[in-house]
Amino acid sequence: MDDQELLRLADQCVKCGLCLPHCPTFRLRRDEADSPRGRIALIQGLVTGQLPDNPRLAAHLDGCLECRACEVACPSLVQFGTLMDAARAARVARLPAPLRRWRKLRLDLLSAPRWLPLLALLGMGYRRLGGAVLARITGLLRRPRLAVLHGLALRLRVPRPPTERSAAAGVAAARSVALFRGCVAQALEPDVMAAARLVLARLGVSTMTPEEQVCCGAMHRHNGFPDAADALLAQNRAVFGDTAVVGIASACVAELRPALNATELCRALLEIPWPATLALRPLQGVVAVHEPCSHRNQLRDTVAVYELLARIPGLEVVPLPGNETCCGAAGTYLLDQPQTALALAADKVVALAGLRPRWLVTTNTGCAAHLGAAAEAAGLGVEVVHPVVLLARAISGAGD
Ligand code: SF4
Ligand code: SF4
Repeated sequence: MDDQELLRLADQCVKCGLCLPHCPTFRLRRDEADSPRGRIALIQGLVTGQLPDNPRLAAHLDGCLECRACEVACPSLVQFGTLMDAARAARVARLPAPLRRWRKLRLDLLSAPRWLPLLALLGMGYRRLGGAVLARITGLLRRPRLAVLHGLALRLRVPRPPTERSAAAGVAAARSVALFRGCVAQALEPDVMAAARLVLARLGVSTMTPEEQVCCGAMHRHNGFPDAADALLAQNRAVFGDTAVVGIASACVAELRPALNATELCRALLEIPWPATLALRPLQGVVAVHEPCSHRNQLRDTVAVYELLARIPGLEVVPLPGNETCCGAAGTYLLDQPQTALALAADKVVALAGLRPRWLVTTNTGCAAHLGAAAEAAGLGVEVVHPVVLLARAISGAGD
């Protein structure tokens, strides 16, 4: 996007301020420059050359979670997410080449599945060799960045090779879908793919998981590398074509949807006619629903999660209070802005402590990792899972 187009988008903001109460960073800091309206003004100043791109300005712009709560609240329909993506791309384009290359390499590494087994082994080593205990005893976890890395290391698992399931006995495979597994999800939530395959098989849907699929590109797009994101999207388009794609993580689906025939898993499961013979065993307990920003503000379809869980007998399904506010995971945000990420997760912990649910469900991998770590650190004893994991337990009878 060129500067003219960027300014055109920014100029749609009438500076009414109605978005301010919805912005998590404004609520935390009470600083206009950390609000949507303030950030739009900073972008206008930057693009017109009235403001220099100095560390102070960078801190306000980089502090944005891209949660898009402001976009949903804006009566002028300002496309804040597109605007912030473009502003970040413009700033990255002006960086010295070595720094730009380093940032791109970091994103490439974070989104490349071939590194995940190594990361998972590092996480396992950290857990088994006493790193986690040592970090707790020495107080290292008081440092926000180390606390975030510690939480992720506790949740990393070695990715499992895919085992596609044929439709269950007695149910003809009337449909087939391709699964989009996401990159980090393979190491942070390996159970989710297995659960998705099991449930789809019981619904008479056969699955395939093309090995050639690549990262959706969201991390690149939101960190100022739109060309790399477009290239990943084109690669996925070449792999999947017009096939019906079911995505596990809501953020991936939000990124894929403009180019692919992609549906978020909960919605896809509701759209499939369920066999009359399918019996679900009860799961007893309260399940709190966390609504990831990508699901709530981009896909705008979190109702699918509630509708799906309502089909499981015994469950008491309640929204997690404060769902309108980002949990702080936000892609690479928790790595880059750990202090804010932890502050936002702390609010979720307070909400969870009030509810004391048996499970917390979320449809996004980064949120699951971030909230799982926060809940564990607070000793809440809540299991953080994808909704499809509970459905698989109810279907397979392994729930209670
Ligand atoms: S982004 Fe929308 S709601 Fe916020 S100040 Fe601008 S016009 Fe108003
Ligand atoms: S995207 Fe989220 S964090 Fe960024 S300005 Fe909008 S509401 Fe605030």
